[in-house]
Parts: sequence; C-alpha cells; structure tokens
Amino acid sequence: MKGVKALDFDKYIRVIDDFPKPGISFKDITTLLKDGEAYRAAVDAIVEQVRESQPDLIVGPEARGFLLGAPVAYALGIGFVPVRKPGKLPGKTVSETYELEYGSDTLEVHADAIQPGQRIAIVDDLLATGGTISATARLIEKTGAQVAGMSFLIELGFLEGRKKLEGYKVFSLIKY
Ligand code: AMP
Repeated sequence: MKGVKALDFDKYIRVIDDFPKPGISFKDITTLLKDGEAYRAAVDAIVEQVRESQPDLIVGPEARGFLLGAPVAYALGIGFVPVRKPGKLPGKTVSETYELEYGSDTLEVHADAIQPGQRIAIVDDLLATGGTISATARLIEKTGAQVAGMSFLIELGFLEGRKKLEGYKVFSLIKY
C-alpha cells in the first residue's frame, strides 16, 4: 500500500469541462473509484468523519451517493438506506420535491426504512448548490429522524451550497 495522503485526493478526480453542458466543469469521480488505494483511502477518510456523528444509519442519494455511502455503512457496521428518484422503490415511500434551475425534481425513501429519533449521516459524492442534499435532509426529517451530519467527497465552494445547509454539520474531503 503506497498510502494516499489526504491532500492528494484531488489528483484522482478527472475534470471535464463543458459536460454535460457548456459552462459546467464536471468533476468525474470514476477515476478515483477505479483506483483501489485511492477509493479505499477516500472511504476511510469519510468513515472517520462520519463516525464522530455517531449515526444509526447512512443515507445516500442515487446514484453516486451509493458508491460512497454503502462502503461507509459497511465499514461502520451500520445500515445503508437509499434515496431514489420516483418509481424505483417497491415499498411505501415518503417523498420530497425540490426546485431546480428549470423545473423540479422529487426524491423518495422507503417509509419504514428510517425510524423516528434515529441519527442519520448523509453521504454523497459532491456538494454543488446543495439542492439535492437539503431535499434529502427534509426527507429524513419528515420521517421524524435527525440529520447527524453530511459528508461529501467533493465540495464546489464557489456555489455556496453550505449556505443552504446552515445548522447541519458538513464535511468534505476535496474543495474546489
Ligand atoms: P446539487 O444539488 O446542486 O448540490 O448537486 C447535486 C448532484 O449533482 C451532486 O451530488 C453531483 O452528483 C451532481 N453534480 C452537480 N454539479 C456537478 C459537477 N460540477 N461535477 C460533477 N457532478 C456534479
């Protein structure tokens, strides 16, 4: 194991300009995921942060939140609950609709997956405007549970997503 220093994580992220549309600088995490040492070191670093908030469960939004949230849950020996786009979950769901630049989007979670009073850590790949994660937090709070913390591999600081997340503990490994 050659060891991956915390400061080096950004070297594993591939930046692709003008994807998926002109003006967007896309942060591609697949280049980190395919490197076993970097993937493990990134998950380990997120695990250490998430552990501090002593969660009962990890919640991850589809789809890249699964790639980081599930290994974090496994490492902590706690459960993972997926948050999905409408129509994907087979059981009874709770849903939350949020505004996008143009139009709106909806997220769902199984109604019986989270119990009132539980402490939930949200894990996702990237914090941009914070729209997805604040909707995820509202979804969790609708079930009566508490958001104990939010962890991201990447934070796009210039989009000021943190401003939408006041009152929550927010952690990120790589900042742009
Ligand atoms: P937001 O709701 O604006 O915080 O963004 C939600 C999700 O969109 C993130 O979790 C990413 O999966 C994706 N995303 C937004 N901006 C980017 C970007 N520049 N590069 C890669 N993914 C992005």
